[in-house]
Order: sequence, then structure tokens, then C-alpha cells
Amino acid sequence: MNEDASHEVEHILIVGGGVIGAACAYYLAQTGRRVTIIDRDEFGKGSSHGNCGFISPSHVPPLCRPGAISKTFKSLFNPDSSFRIKPSLRPSMLRWLWQFLRRCNQRDMLTGAAARHALLQSSASLYRQLIAEGILEGCEWETEGLLFVFETEKERDYFAPLANLVREEFGVGANWLDGDQLVAMEPALRPGLTGAYHYQDDAHLRPDRLLAAWRDRLNKVGVEIIEQCAFQGFADEQGRAKAVFTSKGEIQADAFVVAMGAWSPQWNKALGCKLPIQPGKGLSVTMPRPRICPKYPMILEECHVGVTPFASGYRLGSTMEFAGYDERINRRRLALLRKGAERYLVEPTCEPIEEEWCGFRPMSCDGAPIIDRSPTMANVMIAAGHSMLGVSMSPATGKLVTEMLTGTTPHVDPHPYRLSRF
Ligand SMILES: Cc1cc2nc3c(=O)[nH]c(=O)nc-3n(C[C@H](O)[C@H](O)[C@H](O)COP(=O)(O)OP(=O)(O)OC[C@H]3O[C@@H](n4cnc5c(N)ncnc54)[C@H](O)[C@@H]3O)c2cc1C
Repeated sequence: MNEDASHEVEHILIVGGGVIGAACAYYLAQTGRRVTIIDRDEFGKGSSHGNCGFISPSHVPPLCRPGAISKTFKSLFNPDSSFRIKPSLRPSMLRWLWQFLRRCNQRDMLTGAAARHALLQSSASLYRQLIAEGILEGCEWETEGLLFVFETEKERDYFAPLANLVREEFGVGANWLDGDQLVAMEPALRPGLTGAYHYQDDAHLRPDRLLAAWRDRLNKVGVEIIEQCAFQGFADEQGRAKAVFTSKGEIQADAFVVAMGAWSPQWNKALGCKLPIQPGKGLSVTMPRPRICPKYPMILEECHVGVTPFASGYRLGSTMEFAGYDERINRRRLALLRKGAERYLVEPTCEPIEEEWCGFRPMSCDGAPIIDRSPTMANVMIAAGHSMLGVSMSPATGKLVTEMLTGTTPHVDPHPYRLSRF
């Protein structure tokens, strides 16, 4: 349903040039409309730049699940845990934590999982279509699946019921490989591991190359990208936004998309709502491919380190820290990536290090994104809160935003992403 049907939408302005803004721009431009993206920094340099690049239909259940409460509290007292919450009395953080913790039950986990599953499945097939059509040339797309690797039986036993649930409830299955089968298939792993689930329908790509490919494509289809242009608020009148105020002056448009990732809640007042999104800081290290480089991308489950072999390089990425927008890279936490990888891989790293990076995941309290209109401005869409899966969910988000703004039938039910669920 187009709630804004009385108004013609010819020019759409998107705030935020990450993977979500890019996908929205592409699908909107496909309808023949004029599209502008503004970013306060460079296009593609936010959370979308240095992440692990997994396209993961396997990641169905959200983090808020039964058992998460005890893990969360243990991490509060362990500075070396990959998951860390800096003790804070910020009301927004306390509210978020409360909203997260009260969803750590089976029923809410399944609701969040269903919301994620729909976008993950749709995005996986849209990616395949975009790749087949040559739209994202150069993004280093590969379809080896994803390994969830277990060092210990204890962790495997903790994970197994979740794997069964995902298979039974959502039809997303994996092959179990024991330690010997695993090393035979992936000799870059050390002998003696317990085994791995292989999710064959997952894929991966190189995120910075993906954003470069999007930029090329958006240029070709006439999308204007304005960088170093910071959003500063809306000029609104009678329940509609007329323009945005920016560091480069006022820009008018007929409709607006807010895709500022982890920074979106900084504009809650302007948007007329309280987005339950916190920045979840993650780290990555990028280097050349080691001599014994894994063929398969993988998650090392006990330490939560992601390992991504690209055609042009190799990346370790992980850690989740709730500590506001602090952009400093903590050496001790960065070292956790290497330490973790050393336990599983024959050749865990390679010199020289090309990039050490931190990014802020836009963590929503239920693990599903918010794709909805501002409650106070009918022509402003919010597309944020994609948590740990923004790359994986971006094509379907772009398509859904386009359908909602242009009044065409949505290809996935928008109901699970509405703001009023909080
Ligand atoms: C270590 C790590 C590993 C990850 N691995 C994966 C993975 O394997 N697979 C996956 O699917 N996801 C992964 N993610 C999550 C993924 O990176 C995010 O979900 C996704 O990038 C969010 O995209 P976005 O477009 O919403 O935000 P961003 O990419 O952060 O884009 C937001 C943009 O808004 C701009 N902006 C902010 N404020 C303003 C303003 N006032 N005016 C104008 N512009 C503004 C920023 O400059 C930025 O460019 C990972 C994240 C991290 C940190």
C-alpha cells in the first residue's frame, strides 16, 4: 500500500551511502526516478567497508535467544571476551539492553528469525540475479558456502539444537563434517578440531569492492552521489519533509530515505521516534592471502572470528563492543582476532597488514531491521538497524523500500520491520 499516494514521487534523496543506501538507490533508479545520495564522509566508508563480506542466509536466529542472558552477563566481567558491553548509564543504552534482554526467549527469537529469514532469502536470490546480469562486476563474488567450525564438542553441543531448529523451522540445512572430513575438505584448518557445519547456500564477496561496484553502477544509471555532505535535519511542513538541511545547504526532494546505519538514532528527534539501535563496534584486519589460504570462508565458533579468503586478499574480522561511537582501535581487542585464528588455522595470518579497521554495526534490539515510515513525516522512509547482516540483507531492503515508496506490491511482507513493534 502506498500511504503517500497523493503525492508524486519524482526525486528521492537518500541519506547515507552505505550498502543499504546504495541498494535503495539502485532499485529506486530502476523505476526511472531521479535519485541523490548524500554522505557526510565518502560513499561506502562506514560499516559497509571492512566487514567480513558473508552473504549468509544461514544466519536466521537473532542474538536475542534463550541462553543469551548468561553469556551477556559473563562478558561484562571478561575484557578478553569477543563480546563486550562497556558499563554505561546512558539511558539509550540501558533502554536498548532492556529491550534486548526481554526478547531472549523462544517466542521472540522465532519472531525475529522469521523477519530475518524473509530478507535473507530474498536478498540471496537478488544477489544471484545481480551477479548474473553483471550489475556488480568486480565484487569478488564466490559461492563456496560458509563453514561454522567447532574446536570443542561442548560448543558444538551448544550450537546443535539451534542448527536443528533452523533446519526444521526454516528449511535452512547444513552438512555436518567431522574433524577428519573437515581437514580433508579444507586443509588450511589444523587437525584435531571437532568438526563443522557447512552451509552450502551461503556466499561471500569483498565488501569494499562491492561498494566500488555499486558506485560504478549508480553512476551509470544516473544516481548523483554527494560526499562530505552531512545531514543536519529536515525542513518539514504538515507532516511531510520538503528538504534536508545539510553542511552544503538545503536540498529539496519529494521523498527521503534515512540509511545512516548505526548513526540513524542520532536523529531520533528529527524522525519523531526512538530507534532502538546501538553501535556494535567490530574490528577487522586485512592482509594478503597466506600461502596456505582457506578455500572456504568460515566462522571460528569458540572465538567468533570470521575468516574470509578473497581472490585479492584475506581478512579476519569479529568482536562486538557496545561502547558508544568510540573509533579508537584497541590493540588488545585486535590481538583477539589473531589469537583466535591461531587455534584453528595452519597459517592464520600473513604479512604485511594492509588495513586495520573498525566499524559500527547498526544493532537493533531484536536483530531485525527497521524499514518503515517516520511517524511524523509520511514521505520519509527509515531503512536502518541491519545489525550483523546489512550486506546480506541489502538487495531485498532496497527493493522493499522502493516498493513502499512507489506504491507497488511489496515482494516481502513489510509488517515484521515496522517501528510499532517496539
Ligand atoms: C567486523 C564486522 C563484520 C561484519 N560482517 C558482516 C558480514 O559478513 N555480512 C553482513 O551481511 N554484514 C556484516 N557486518 C554488518 C554490516 O557491515 C552492516 O550491517 C552494514 O554495513 C550496515 O550498512 P548501512 O548502509 O546501514 O550502514 P553504513 O555502511 O555504516 O552506512 C551509513 C552511512 O551513513 C553515513 N552517515 C552517518 N551520519 C551521516 C550524516 N549525518 N549525514 C550524512 N551521512 C551520514 C555514514 O558516513 C555511512 O557512510 C559486519 C560488521 C562489522 C563491523
